[in-house]
Amino acid sequence: MIEIINLHKKFGKLTVLDGLDLKIKKGGIFAILGPNGSGKTTLIKCLLGMVIPDRGDILLEGKSVLHAAAYRNNINYLPQIANFPSNLTVTELINMVKNLRPKPADEKPLVELFGLRPFLKKKLGNLSGGTKQKVNLLLTFMFDSDLIILDEPTTGLDPIALIHLKETIQQEKEKGKTILITTHIMSFVDEMADEIVFLLDGKIYFKGSVQQLKEQTHESNLEYAIAHLISKQDA
Ligand code: ADP
Repeated sequence: MIEIINLHKKFGKLTVLDGLDLKIKKGGIFAILGPNGSGKTTLIKCLLGMVIPDRGDILLEGKSVLHAAAYRNNINYLPQIANFPSNLTVTELINMVKNLRPKPADEKPLVELFGLRPFLKKKLGNLSGGTKQKVNLLLTFMFDSDLIILDEPTTGLDPIALIHLKETIQQEKEKGKTILITTHIMSFVDEMADEIVFLLDGKIYFKGSVQQLKEQTHESNLEYAIAHLISKQDA
C-alpha cells in the first residue's frame, strides 16, 4: 500500500531522513517508533504532504503522492497537538470538519463510545486535555478511510477511554484498514502492533513483529528490547 523510496529531508544542516526506504503492506497496525527527534513526525508529514522531501518518492497504491492532493481524502489523521479554536463548541467543530471534508461522516457512535454527549454544547476552550483528545479521536474516526495515521493517540486518556480507543483501532483493522501509530507507550505497542518500524539516524533500523524484536534482542520485555536495539547502535 505504502512504498517509501530513498527519502531525504534536511532542515538547514540537520539531516532528519537520510535515504529512508520502507514498504508497508495493506491492512494491520504498524507502530512507528524511534527516539525523540528521530524523524517520526517528519516521515508522517511527508506522507501527508505537509513536509516536502528533498529527494526520493512516496507511493500510495503505486502512485506518487508528491505534488498530489486528492489522495489525502482517503487518509484519517490524528495530530499530536489538537489546537482547537477555543470559542467553538464541540458540535460546531464537528460540523465544521464535516463541511471541510468531501466524504460522509458518522460521529454518533463515537459520541456515545467516548461519552461526549454532555460536552457537545460546551466550548472547546473549557474542556480538559483528556476530553479534547476524545474529540480529536472522534474527528479522526468519524470518516471512513483506508489509511489511518495516529500521532500519540493515548495522550491524556483515562483507562476506560483507552480501552475504547483500542477497540476502535481493532475494529478498523478488522475492516482491512492500515493503521500507523506513533507512541511512547510500549505496553500499547506490545498489545496492539502487528509490526514495529524503528527509525534511527534517518533510516529504518528495524522492521518486524514485536516477537521478532524480542527474539533478536533476547529481551522478553519490549521496553528493554528497544533499549537494547538503541544501545547496540551506540556501541
Ligand atoms: P520525532 O517525531 O521522531 O520526535 P521530528 O520528525 O519531529 O522527530 O523531528 C526530527 C528533527 O527535525 C528534530 O531535531 C526537529 O527539531 C527537527 N525539525 C522538525 N521539523 C522541523 C522544522 N520545520 N524546521 C526545523 N527543524 C525541524
